[in-house]
Amino acid sequence: MKKEKVEIKGFIETSFLDWKGKIASVIFLPRCNFRCPFCHNRTLVLEPNKYETIPLELILKKLKTLSGWVDGVCITGGEPTMHPFLGTIIDKIHDLGFGVKLDTNGSHPDVLLSMINNKKIEYVAMDIKAPLSKEKYRLSAGVDVDISKIKESINIIIDSGIDHEFRTTIVPDLHHLDDIIDIVSFIKKAKRYTLQNFNPGEEVMDPLFAKKSPFSPDDFSKIQKEVEKVWKNLKGQEPALIPALLKSARAV
Ligand code: SF4
Repeated sequence: MKKEKVEIKGFIETSFLDWKGKIASVIFLPRCNFRCPFCHNRTLVLEPNKYETIPLELILKKLKTLSGWVDGVCITGGEPTMHPFLGTIIDKIHDLGFGVKLDTNGSHPDVLLSMINNKKIEYVAMDIKAPLSKEKYRLSAGVDVDISKIKESINIIIDSGIDHEFRTTIVPDLHHLDDIIDIVSFIKKAKRYTLQNFNPGEEVMDPLFAKKSPFSPDDFSKIQKEVEKVWKNLKGQEPALIPALLKSARAV
């Protein structure tokens, strides 16, 4: 089988946002099989060759100097699980003594399962784009999605016991309170669920979404409170919702 060249298209030395409670470096891998209209990484997804490829060796060298300061490395994208070289990158990061957090859209449960079984990741954050119906998911992911794979990924993550969170970026017209409650009902055994408010801008995937208004802070807060209530009732305990973070130039 032809070996895929390692392609890293972005690196942030330190981030306080990408791994809750930790200082993390962030590695960006190109391309994605989704086309979420609200995605903030259009260029990384559609035209990754506009970015120079950063040699893995260079990043490893930098990471060595960050040892003792950075707690772990977040691998994000794009969709990292599309790349056969993902495991190679992770092994080299582990060799340096760093833990790994993986961001994913959950479309490759086989890769996720293998990563978890082989102890390649310490934390996983999976985006759930919409309630688990084909039509609603297509609107939020921008492509037809095999919902059975999304469900499989959710179940793999929850059943594995690995530290994790699920996240949904909510956009007026695409998401209503009932939709979020549907999602919460499906993931009621999850450790954490994060709502993020849509963040418009010129860089988003679908130009029609560039100037679309997000939920007002008031409406967003109301949705969050309702969801927390439902979460609490379902789990019979205090909600483990992480306050929403707006990531201005990141895939969410
Ligand atoms: S938001 Fe994430 S899953 Fe959606 S297109 Fe962008 S990188 Fe892919």
